[in-house]
Amino acid sequence: MNKISRFIVILLAPAVFAHCSYSQNPSPQKTTKMDSSDKKNPVYSHTDSKQVNLSDAEWKKILPGDVYRIAREKGTERPWSSSFETSKEIGTYYCAVCGNPLFKSDTKFESGCGWPSFYEAISKSSIIYEKDNTHGMTRTEVMCGRCKSHLGHVFEDGPPPTGLRYCINGVVLDFKKAAEAEKKYNEKKQE
Ligand SMILES: [Zn+2]
Repeated sequence: MNKISRFIVILLAPAVFAHCSYSQNPSPQKTTKMDSSDKKNPVYSHTDSKQVNLSDAEWKKILPGDVYRIAREKGTERPWSSSFETSKEIGTYYCAVCGNPLFKSDTKFESGCGWPSFYEAISKSSIIYEKDNTHGMTRTEVMCGRCKSHLGHVFEDGPPPTGLRYCINGVVLDFKKAAEAEKKYNEKKQE
């Protein structure tokens, strides 16, 4: 009896494995990593401008810990901790929480304050402004216009033409190089 059941197991095993590998095959999305912003974030988009309203519990499931702390709990990253602070690359800065375009690299400047700084937002609706009286200061908080995540603050001591200084936490920024700039750079390399 034992011998027979072992025989049956041996006979059936390849069939079971074959079935497993077959059933796993029709899900290529799981293995192909085409998107560089490979995130389990269903609302992340560079083109969708629809408002995003998720609860903090939902954001907590989606966002990396450091992004959640700054974006949803209004935290601040350590000064000079972001590689974006000194970056001179040409392209666009997006909200790391929802993908909303926020700033263009040509409005970025070195403020010396320790955080990535810009003098102008990409559009009027890209950012929301709110008075912030915490920590004994009167400041203007800036939030993402699409998902209302905390980004940083704006001050009125920036360079012309706006005189503004958007002081932004690098953790809540995503950067994408401009395709045109990259093309030019590659052409130069080939010359
Ligand atoms: Zn956002």
